[in-house]
Amino acid sequence: MAIECRNLSYIYSEGSGFEIQALHQINLLIPDGEFVGLTGHTGSGKSTLIQHFNGLLRATAGDLLVDGESIYADGYSMRKLRSKVGLVFQYPEHQLFEATVLQDVMFGPKNLGLSAEEQKERALEALHLVGCPEKSYEKSPFELSGGQRRRVAIAGVLAMKPQVLILDEPTAGLDPRGRYEILDEIARLHKETGITVILVSHCMEDVAQYADRMIVMSHGSVVYHDTPAEVFKHRQHLEEMGLAVPQVTSLMQSLAEAGIPVRQDLITVSGAREELLRVFGGRSV
Ligand code: ADP
Ligand code: MG
Repeated sequence: MAIECRNLSYIYSEGSGFEIQALHQINLLIPDGEFVGLTGHTGSGKSTLIQHFNGLLRATAGDLLVDGESIYADGYSMRKLRSKVGLVFQYPEHQLFEATVLQDVMFGPKNLGLSAEEQKERALEALHLVGCPEKSYEKSPFELSGGQRRRVAIAGVLAMKPQVLILDEPTAGLDPRGRYEILDEIARLHKETGITVILVSHCMEDVAQYADRMIVMSHGSVVYHDTPAEVFKHRQHLEEMGLAVPQVTSLMQSLAEAGIPVRQDLITVSGAREELLRVFGGRSV
């Protein structure tokens, strides 16, 4: 499913005297099937923006189109929208509440009105997708580790079979291993199912590694929307916005500034390694 914002603005507490304009005239097209990274400093408006995508927040002005249809049109089904656009909140494990892991993941499909059999089928499939070990299915979510609990929470959204999956800082608070396991699983899911994935992350390393394109927000506006390699060329501007390009990109840019003829648009360690081997002619680096 494609998502398009047209001059979308949002003001918290409008008319209260404590107004905060969180989004300023956002124009954006996220095509169907893309894996996009949404980044920006804390308070830049990322979480506010994505809550518009499944109708949790309603724009103060402007329009939002899902697959070309305005979600604000008369008669548009928000219920249907929420079943198609799955949103995994930040620290989603705080919202687990059922007695067992399996029951928790079945909650979404149950709300969709599916039969008990289908609920279970969906839940088992989703738990398998996120790599949750079978021996935990009958446990209480609270017996699991933080990383496992987060997987269960993600499975709960996947069990709805969304066509768009939005994850708000899914790796926050996880150790590096847990982080990459979860991101690898999301990347695999994207590849296998072709759903649109919107990964909200303030970590440029994560975005560089996984996203086809990235959106950079600052103070409620979209500043860049391009491939990571293109966006990271604006190192200084990004730093002014409190964002650091990936360390490896920064290293290559510093080498280039020091007169070593290496490419400056490399964003992954493996890409940089290849480039260094090329430049230094196979001498070990
Ligand atoms: P991000 O997710 O990028 O950290 P947010 O979308 O949470 O940014 O916040 C954008 C702006 O809106 C910030 O100025 C923040 O303080 C404000 N804001 C967020 N949530 C609320 C709320 N519930 N009420 C009032 N202001 C809010
Ligand atoms: Mg946020």
